Amino acid sequence: MRGALVALPTETVYGLAGRADDPTVLRRIFKAKNRPAHNPLILHCADLDQVASVAELTPAARQLAGSFWPGPLTMLLTRRESVLDEACAGLPRVAVRIPASEQFRAIIRAVGVPLAAPSANPSGYVSPTRAEHVFAGLGCRVDHILDGGPCERGLESTIVGWDEAGRGEIYRLGAISAEVLEALTNTPWPLHQQDEQHPSTPGALLQHYAPRTPVTFELPAPQDAWVTWSERASTWKGEVGVLHLPISTIGDLEEAARNLYHALIELDSAGVTRICVESFPDEGLGATLNERVARASAAQISAA
Ligand code: AMP
Ligand code: MG
Repeated sequence: MRGALVALPTETVYGLAGRADDPTVLRRIFKAKNRPAHNPLILHCADLDQVASVAELTPAARQLAGSFWPGPLTMLLTRRESVLDEACAGLPRVAVRIPASEQFRAIIRAVGVPLAAPSANPSGYVSPTRAEHVFAGLGCRVDHILDGGPCERGLESTIVGWDEAGRGEIYRLGAISAEVLEALTNTPWPLHQQDEQHPSTPGALLQHYAPRTPVTFELPAPQDAWVTWSERASTWKGEVGVLHLPISTIGDLEEAARNLYHALIELDSAGVTRICVESFPDEGLGATLNERVARASAAQISAA
């Protein structure tokens, strides 16, 4: 895949993958997504040896890797000199993970170097969880789209790092909840407080996850406008689209996570005037889902 941009499914969302050792490919990724150059990319590795070729694996990182890799956990680690500035936006750390998808790992292994793979969507828009979302959003800006069906998790990876005193922090809520991290490591994982002038993870301050249709995130949703995601898109025209927990048929947060972005994209293309999302229970994956919807609705407010 020398020079190529390949959109492919990961367990989180579809990624736009390219060789991390090729500055031209990295610049193509930023261009295809219209992503600001100061927002760095996650490097995806096939195994720990490959991680060690781009980052310093501390004992704490190795321990976490033992519990969560392969899987949807990204670690911010001190980068090796060989890592290109384009991938890290010149920051001192590199973001790395080993994805759960065996197919993706086999592709990385075959290429022989880590692959940079941000979500395969135009920057700021909802992340794609199906191949058709990638095609609708990026179309010909991608060389190949590998259709592997809907993503298993439907939410981006959780990003963690350590402060100077060695305390672990969560930089982005994601597919692994803070509660699961804490239970498996037996230590607290507080949310990192971003410095607005010099954010540690620049993407955290960008408008994100937003459909074109305004999103409101409040309860109660207007009763007379209750149109659920399970109804046909044709009935949504001009109406308010309301996503309530039936994006999971059984009130299951993992199912809701798998469906949230697909539901937002479907409603967005159905021509509804407003998308109203009920909040989720604020614990476990519910905290991640609430954060994503809050950012989608904030993006609409600041864009107005
Ligand atoms: P995405 O590629 O859309 O999943 O977003 C990746 C997130 O990881 C963004 O918020 C980036 O700002 C953050 N990130 C990626 N690489 C680094 C890095 N080297 N240092 C700090 N944050 C990073
Ligand atoms: Mg993204």
